[in-house]
Amino acid sequence: MRGFARGAALSAGFAMLAGAAVSGEVAAGQKPARLLLVTVTKTYHHESIPRLVERIEGLGRQSGLFGVDIAATDAELGAKTTPDALKAYDGVVFVNTTGDLPLANRDAFLAWIESGKALVGIHAAADTFHGWPAFISLLGAEFDYHKEQAKVKVLIDDPKSPDTEGLVAPIELFDEIYLYKSFDRARVHMLLSLDRHPNTGEPGFYPIAWTREQGKGRVFYTAPGHRDEVVDSEWFGRHLLGGIRWSLRR
Ligand SMILES: [Zn+2]
Repeated sequence: MRGFARGAALSAGFAMLAGAAVSGEVAAGQKPARLLLVTVTKTYHHESIPRLVERIEGLGRQSGLFGVDIAATDAELGAKTTPDALKAYDGVVFVNTTGDLPLANRDAFLAWIESGKALVGIHAAADTFHGWPAFISLLGAEFDYHKEQAKVKVLIDDPKSPDTEGLVAPIELFDEIYLYKSFDRARVHMLLSLDRHPNTGEPGFYPIAWTREQGKGRVFYTAPGHRDEVVDSEWFGRHLLGGIRWSLRR
């Protein structure tokens, strides 16, 4: 109950801030999209998963943009990712998933995304399917390592994107900051990044959030999402809703 009350209060606060956008979407009369939230983990299991699910559900409800279904177990994931079952969804969110997930059919899943669906990846979504190059290529990177949690200043690479709308740089972020491999800046559209290593402070380019298009599919990945405080923060909700909206072409 405590968790529900807290989420409802946060969602209400966010709805006030996003009031103009919310009424615009409702007026457009579009049927809400349907997103499948995948929370299955095979290696590390993040304690922030329930908080993320609650936050995403709240964003969808408050904006009227989407409703959610959840695949939390191997059986649910298998049943909800058959080619037939996927027809019920407009996209999928990998909510701190890790390891090799038992999708019903990997090739069909990839083809489904490329047919014009959305793939949203949060934090450990990049720690998923390390042995499946096509997925890493689709997402745009894979998790390499992290050190101790750190306070960083996040820079906005594209302030005009819906995914960063309303954000003010630099964004102060205290979280577990991932570093990536298999990342090629030329293959993605950058949204957020760091200009120094989160732990050593050494100058460089460190990606935080980006989008990609593959076929007709749209991919949005964002690195924050380890700590509950980050999940609950106003800017992260705004960023997440913008990314989901963009990936759903709404
Ligand atoms: Zn983490």
